[in-house]
Amino acid sequence: MRKHHIAFDFLVFDNINELSAEDKSLMKVAVESRKNAYAPYSNFCVGAAVLLENGELVIGNNQENASYPSGLCAERVAVFQAGAKYPGVAIIAIAISAASKNYVVDRPAAPCGNCRQSLSEYELRQRRPINLLLMGEKGEVFKCPSIADMLPLGFNNSYLK
Ligand SMILES: [Zn+2]
Repeated sequence: MRKHHIAFDFLVFDNINELSAEDKSLMKVAVESRKNAYAPYSNFCVGAAVLLENGELVIGNNQENASYPSGLCAERVAVFQAGAKYPGVAIIAIAISAASKNYVVDRPAAPCGNCRQSLSEYELRQRRPINLLLMGEKGEVFKCPSIADMLPLGFNNSYLK
């Protein structure tokens, strides 16, 4: 028997103003996108902004549904749109901002498990890490270097032979 330990490093910024100009501007796009979320059931609005290798920006926000599982998270709305519009173009980074109509979200919200799995597919496909920038409405911003770090022991296409 062997014991394994998995850990990863990520950066914590006190607020959005500590980010590089490029990261800050990507997060601002995520914040703007968040304002168009359709979240009448959870009142939890999320915006995402994807930066592609070709310089294009693709946005997403959560789209809820009366049949709850039929809705989709902001992250997947954004990356699926990027994959549809710019097939084969690598994703450099995704910024995610979350806010609630019921309280102030003052800490970063990380992608759900389904979104981590979806993002992982793109990262593996492009053989290049995707940076993640995570923020609430205000407060700290987390910068994670790779989705693989956030989905240890994840399932991938190497099992499908
Ligand atoms: Zn999600």
